[in-house]
Amino acid sequence: MRDVRGRALASSQVRARFFPDIPRRALARNREIEPEKETRPKEDRMPKRPTSCVYCGGPLPPPALTGRPRSFCSAQCRQANERVVVSRNLHEKERRERERLEAEATARREKLEAEVAARDEREYRRAIEAGGDAAAEAKWQRLFDKTSEKGRWSLCQWPLANGEPGACTNRTADVYCAKHNRQLDRESEQQRRRRSEL
Ligand SMILES: [Zn+2]
Ligand SMILES: [Zn+2]
Repeated sequence: MRDVRGRALASSQVRARFFPDIPRRALARNREIEPEKETRPKEDRMPKRPTSCVYCGGPLPPPALTGRPRSFCSAQCRQANERVVVSRNLHEKERRERERLEAEATARREKLEAEVAARDEREYRRAIEAGGDAAAEAKWQRLFDKTSEKGRWSLCQWPLANGEPGACTNRTADVYCAKHNRQLDRESEQQRRRRSEL
């Protein structure tokens, strides 16, 4: 199609001429203009920008036309904030390092405790298998450890033939149980009599 002077018309000009009521953009896109989705007020859609200095809380200078929105009132506040951030990161790093070292120490201690417990158990089983005084001593020691953990009483330390405690597992708050204390008394009485008879 050509205009009155015979120049070729662009297709949009042709459409605009024949369909003057339809908006140009709708013609160009060849579809309906979607109504704008406007559910929230405009302020909410704006990115959050500080209204006062992030560091000192003082008023911010008017925003620059280009670049990022201001967060600090001055270069001093920007630098001071930077120092705070650096020192906070450093403390956080130190804290994580300390926690790592503590966790490692705990793991080492627990491993060692497990090894000691396993070794004690092996020794205990060996002693029980051996029988006799070795078994009696091991049983007494195990019971003694258990009762002294509770801390309320102890075990009679009446010795075996090898001189180690293990002959008696009676409870006592003393060194020996009541029965063995009486036995001690009798023995010392007998000794006293023998000495006086001499
Ligand atoms: Zn400031
Ligand atoms: Zn006893």
